[in-house]
Amino acid sequence: MAKRFPTFKPYNQHQIMMLPPSLEELISKDHPVRIVNDVINSVNIEPLLSAYQSTGTSSYHPQMLLKILVYGYVTNVYSSRKLEVACKENINFMWLSAMNYPDHNTINRFRGVRLKDALRAIFEQVVKLLVQEGLISIEEIYTDGTKIEANANKYTFVWKKSIQTNKEKMKKQLAEIWEYAQTIADKEDSLPDPPDFTTIDTEKVKDTVEKLNKVLNKNKQASNKAKAKMRYISKNFVENIEKYEIQEEILGERNSYSKTDPDATFMMMKEDHMKNGQLKPGYNVQISTSNQCIVNYTIHPNPTDTRTLKSHLEQFKKSYGVNPTSITADAGYGSEENYDLLEKRKIRPFVKYNMFDKQQHQATQDKSPFSSDKLYYQQESDSYICPMGQQMHYIGSTVKRTSTGFEQNVKKYQAQNCSSCPLNGKCHKSKGNRTIEVNENLNRQRLKAFTLLNSEEGIEKRKKRCFDVEPVFGNIKNNHKFKRFMLRGRDKVEIEWGLLAIAQNIRKKAA
Ligand code: SF4
Repeated sequence: MAKRFPTFKPYNQHQIMMLPPSLEELISKDHPVRIVNDVINSVNIEPLLSAYQSTGTSSYHPQMLLKILVYGYVTNVYSSRKLEVACKENINFMWLSAMNYPDHNTINRFRGVRLKDALRAIFEQVVKLLVQEGLISIEEIYTDGTKIEANANKYTFVWKKSIQTNKEKMKKQLAEIWEYAQTIADKEDSLPDPPDFTTIDTEKVKDTVEKLNKVLNKNKQASNKAKAKMRYISKNFVENIEKYEIQEEILGERNSYSKTDPDATFMMMKEDHMKNGQLKPGYNVQISTSNQCIVNYTIHPNPTDTRTLKSHLEQFKKSYGVNPTSITADAGYGSEENYDLLEKRKIRPFVKYNMFDKQQHQATQDKSPFSSDKLYYQQESDSYICPMGQQMHYIGSTVKRTSTGFEQNVKKYQAQNCSSCPLNGKCHKSKGNRTIEVNENLNRQRLKAFTLLNSEEGIEKRKKRCFDVEPVFGNIKNNHKFKRFMLRGRDKVEIEWGLLAIAQNIRKKAA
């Protein structure tokens, strides 16, 4: 019996369509590409137009290129080559570009060069649009950071420590050979004591090498070993110290950088697929969100979040002309300097500090009954009462400086007689009488944050932080597969993140 097949609709690949459907018909009314189109149409692109010279050959329209890029970042098409192909093959891109076909060089130049000074203003306009629509607020923000790998080789690194070690070796070798040269120098050439090698620079090394060569080259007593060493020093030291000076300038306050992207710093990433704790070149991206939309972003070279808040808030003020009214962030931001900063700017700090979570649990509290925060303070006598009822008197203050130069005033109090106390050993481990250090300002700031965080509003904000700012990074990294920057250099990385931020906001608007 002959096999039977179902009935298919007629299909003739070579059939010529007399009236092809328009792209307009093929794209549904509520498609996200239309939202990208509408949002970018509503944005004033004047800052972008200023990136072009008034004369010159005609270019692709910047508004069209911007739409293509933004839609690319919305749909996980980040590479300029893939965007070029999409403009020829993907009806959504073809509709957006109105059948223009920019090549990857044009797209790349537009992204890396033209958007440099204009993208921030465009991002801010998108945020303001969402505020007007009542979708987000720029008053109560949630802040967090993540590290994203740079487009840089992880094996071409420069470490501050190895420069310092190499410089130390140079100093030692110069001092040794100087000492040797002194012993063989003729009277007229006799060398004074070695130069001060506490610090060395190109000038000092050049000068030292010149003087040493003068003595060693003409002196017949100089051993072959010393002459060989001097040849090595003459050949390498000046060149090396020049190289180290350039590298130190690039490093600035950082401990490392990658030679293929000198703005990228080596840092620990959350995504450690090899599970070997290898540091990778990357950037610390800070964002503030409202209803999972990004309202502010900044890029930082330092891996810790604590030191990023000041410039992040400065950018916020620059963007919107005001400070937010409140900020919610995790313990990574809870430093005295940050609390002072927020107080000065009248921003309510729903910001945890190191011990906050532990303080919430009675069991943890009971584990350290002698800790200094449990001692009673007597204001009249400016003293603390120790667990055995002894008065701990004020014995002086010190000023400590943090790595950012912030000054912390610390008061010291000491017990009178611990040696005969039955609690000695349990209460503290030091040999003499127990001394405690108290930072009154930090304690006051922490108490303020503790009260705020445990208020009804604070509990709500702590819960919301976990599903406001945190999922944004998860969404961009995991759902939209953006785990590594495509471009190199801080300026270009900032452009890329700006595009991602606009894309994230448009996706939320479309949702
Ligand atoms: S060890 Fe010293 S500080 Fe601690 S309870 Fe005894 S007297 Fe007080």
